[in-house]
Amino acid sequence: MSDCKLTDEAGRLAALTRYDVLDTEPEKPFDKITGLVQSVMDVPIAAVSLVDVQRQWFKSIQGLDVAETSREIAFCHHTIQQREPMIVPDATADPRFANNPLVTGAPYIRAYAGVPLKTPDGYNLGSLCAIDYEPRQFDAGQIAILTSFGKLVVDELELRQMASTDGLTGALTRRGFVEMATHEIERSRRYGRPLAVVLFDLDDFKTVNDTYGHPAGDNVLRYVTGCATDTLRSSDTLGRIGGEEFALLMPETQPEAALDCVERLRRTIADTEIPIDTGRIAVTASFGVCPLTDRYGDVESLLAAADQALYGAKTSGRNRTVFAHGPQVALPADPV
Ligand code: GH3
Ligand code: MG
Ligand code: MG
Repeated sequence: MSDCKLTDEAGRLAALTRYDVLDTEPEKPFDKITGLVQSVMDVPIAAVSLVDVQRQWFKSIQGLDVAETSREIAFCHHTIQQREPMIVPDATADPRFANNPLVTGAPYIRAYAGVPLKTPDGYNLGSLCAIDYEPRQFDAGQIAILTSFGKLVVDELELRQMASTDGLTGALTRRGFVEMATHEIERSRRYGRPLAVVLFDLDDFKTVNDTYGHPAGDNVLRYVTGCATDTLRSSDTLGRIGGEEFALLMPETQPEAALDCVERLRRTIADTEIPIDTGRIAVTASFGVCPLTDRYGDVESLLAAADQALYGAKTSGRNRTVFAHGPQVALPADPV
């Protein structure tokens, strides 16, 4: 029987998205595993590589200061095409890699061993790999160890996904938010009560990281979480559902009240100067709001509609709120 999960790229990418791990901060469990691979396999470089649409992104990497490479040149791109470990004792003698820029140029990879990171539902998300600057053999014992460490990486990804609170901000994770929202939406529908879902995303956040550094970016994320918690009612719930994207669940809230509250939060964020080590940063956020209606009756469709509205807020200039239902009216941004 053919192993169709190996060729189902759309399914593989959807699985990768479900783990919500791309572009997240380094985390100890993964760094521990790559550290162990380095010493047990006696290699200078070890990495957890996740293969995205056009890049491999490293959740953890030891021995090399790089966050990602293009997928085209990634050894791990080949590893995920198979179920078995991929072993390349000498890249210069392997026609697939002899002309690879990672072999002909820095970091001058010579030997590679990678095991696919296979999810419980059968998708290869990426690989755990060991890399050497010298040609070499890897013995069966080492490959067995690498394979068992690969399973540990997947276990960690599973655990991470099951967590309901986000370590950086204390907000609910996507999973935690969806679980909670599912119950709340069900209740609101049963009793005919109003409810609104909001998505918001920090504007030009990449520039914040690029200008002030990642730790400052983390600080901003924590600060914005604090602003949201202070502005919202205690019955509202905040989730961090992507890197710099948040969701709000507002039960017992009519659309106008939701819009009022969201606008208050938007202004608070825009008006706050966030202290960081080297000074202060101003950030803004864009919002999409969607009320519970017959048209959007479950959490996924509410989130999708709020996301569409958020997209409208982004494309119409950022730092504004767009309402998903009825006429697509973008509220004007504050006069400057
Ligand atoms: P837009 O206004 O269109 O949303 O632009 P943007 O720059 O905010 O969006 P983009 O998706 O290009 O970049 C999001 C950035 O958020 C990139 C990523 O590194 C950063 N990010 C995601 N998670 C974290 C985190 O946990 N900490 C820090 N510091 N940055 C993060
Ligand atoms: Mg953003
Ligand atoms: Mg975003």
